[in-house]
Amino acid sequence: MELSRRLSLIKPSATLQVTEKATALRARGVDLIDLGAGEPDFDTPEAIKNAAAEAMRAGQTKYTPVGGTDALKTAIVTKLQRDNGFVYAKNEVLATCGGKHALFLAFQALFGDGDEVIVPAPYWVSYTDMLLLAGAAPRVVRTQEAHNFRLTPAELEQAITPRTKAIILNSPSNPTGVAYDEAELRPLVEIIARHNLIVISDDVYEMMVYGEFRLGHVLRIRPELRDRTLIVNSVSKTYAMTGWRIGYSAGPANVIEAMSTLQGQMTSNPSSIAQAAAVQALAGSQDAVPLMIREFEKRALFMVERLRTIPGVRCPQPQGAFYVFPNVSAYLNRWASRREASRPKTGDELAAYLIETAHVAVVGGSDFGYPEHIRISYANSMANLERGMDRVETALKKLG
Ligand code: PLP
Repeated sequence: MELSRRLSLIKPSATLQVTEKATALRARGVDLIDLGAGEPDFDTPEAIKNAAAEAMRAGQTKYTPVGGTDALKTAIVTKLQRDNGFVYAKNEVLATCGGKHALFLAFQALFGDGDEVIVPAPYWVSYTDMLLLAGAAPRVVRTQEAHNFRLTPAELEQAITPRTKAIILNSPSNPTGVAYDEAELRPLVEIIARHNLIVISDDVYEMMVYGEFRLGHVLRIRPELRDRTLIVNSVSKTYAMTGWRIGYSAGPANVIEAMSTLQGQMTSNPSSIAQAAAVQALAGSQDAVPLMIREFEKRALFMVERLRTIPGVRCPQPQGAFYVFPNVSAYLNRWASRREASRPKTGDELAAYLIETAHVAVVGGSDFGYPEHIRISYANSMANLERGMDRVETALKKLG
């Protein structure tokens, strides 16, 4: 059958492809170390699972209101006030099938033909494809490794045109783990305000920040931008609930209503059982969260230290999330010289080499906008990270 032209705009998600390949190798009995996955390795906390079981037993197995149950909307409102100090009413929030679908709905609701949306790179693989599906034009802005991949005010100012409608901010970032504190974010927010841009604030990694680092947020710097800001968040990463598929969004009532109308024609509502679990996650005890974060912090230190001992590898220090994004160009065949002829040409080819020969899954950097990098997830046990990095180092040495 002929597919619609729309499909030619997009490609399968690079991260999901790596996960599929890793699963297939494991099924063949390969001792594979998966450093590709974008999900916490921890199990969902028991109290959250119990809430889901209870909801099923209580018969909460039917359709719910499109934008989520009243209990979940209340929990989202509670969370935003408790963790962020943001005051939203229930008609200004919506529950979705994962943060990914919240972003999809938002882009469909807000953007159309010719609208430019600034996407600072390296960027999460799905933003650009989802924008293209909405008919919008992603305006990818390359940030510099020398600036720790933080967008500078000059880079932002230069990227804005009369057609620019919005900017996506993702801090901490997937794939770099780099985040903005208030001082770093403030000059960007001033430019955003001056140009009246809409902000899509993808906060899915907001809880995963390390040490003394204090995360900045557009709405703490300029609360009056509330009418131009859409928050997207999710229970996936914070509560180790990626499989439950619950995300949420907060913003101006008319946008939330539009997203709800779209959702009503797409999925009707997120799973009633997963919604009950998300109520417990957002409004119940938060004790499990810092335990996971402390563990990620230890691993981040280990990974960066370890990567920096490999000759030629450069790696920015993550402030959060659970990824590192090293520059591996020292191991690529950039110049097509004969000496390097057997080397991979891009981070993607290097990732393919690592999974085939070292049985370590990582993701190539191309789909994040930086082909000379790879993304390594440290959402794996310390023992596996040590084994994985031993294998990576040996495999890189072989490339000479
Ligand atoms: N935003 C970013 C930056 C992500 O990395 C992800 C998942 O990998 C999401 C949003 C969506 O997560 P979910 O749909 O599981 O809530």
